[in-house]
Amino acid sequence: MIEINRVNKVFYQGTKAIHALRDINLTIPQGTIFGVIGASGAGKSTLIRCVNLLERPTDGQVIVDGTDLTQLNSTDLTQARRKIGMIFQHFNLLSSRTVFDNVALPLELAGTDKATIKTKVTDLLNLVGLAEKHDTYPANLSGGQKQRVAIARALASDPKVLLCDEATSALDPATTHAILDLLKEINRQLNLTILLITHEMDVVKSICSEVAIIGGGELVEKGPVGEIFAHP
Ligand code: ADP
Repeated sequence: MIEINRVNKVFYQGTKAIHALRDINLTIPQGTIFGVIGASGAGKSTLIRCVNLLERPTDGQVIVDGTDLTQLNSTDLTQARRKIGMIFQHFNLLSSRTVFDNVALPLELAGTDKATIKTKVTDLLNLVGLAEKHDTYPANLSGGQKQRVAIARALASDPKVLLCDEATSALDPATTHAILDLLKEINRQLNLTILLITHEMDVVKSICSEVAIIGGGELVEKGPVGEIFAHP
């Protein structure tokens, strides 16, 4: 589970302070698919980046699986981040590595032995439906296939949480649908908590059980999707 307690984030540009997040409180129970929606500039990206401390909150706590990440030194933070996978709008695959080697990367960095890597990567590529592409380079994949590889890579270290930063925003509607189905399936199979940010209402409606709306760095509303988007 993820707890975001009184998180503020201020960026300074010279003497100008930009308050990107103001006093955000959110509790995301283990195993839920939680959406954060808001317009461009609302603070979504800053918020999700604060969850794995790609951005350090100016103040407040970010508790993932019982550990307050804001209190960790860099060694412990590296360790704790293995519980948090992340996928991006533009996939962020390494173009010089094959599909197999992209997915293997986090395991190599963790010092996993070759035989275990082979088994694990093969399982992950089966899970995302890309087993036959293991020797292909990212340049020869479609957008949807690239995102599948990114999902497999994000799952390689058996995370408890998957962060999705506009993960379907670069995809056409049919591919978006297929990726959302895959995320739902992974959530179900692995009891993985998924936190996603998007500017697309349809994404939230089709996959999330709970949603928070942010605007101007503030939490505007939160609750079950059925209540927040219910027609009067
Ligand atoms: P969203 O993801 O909802 O589009 P962001 O989190 O990217 O919003 O941005 C929220 C606000 O913080 C915006 O006003 C943006 O300009 C500002 N901001 C984001 N990152 C930085 C940064 N590194 N330096 C200065 N301002 C930033």
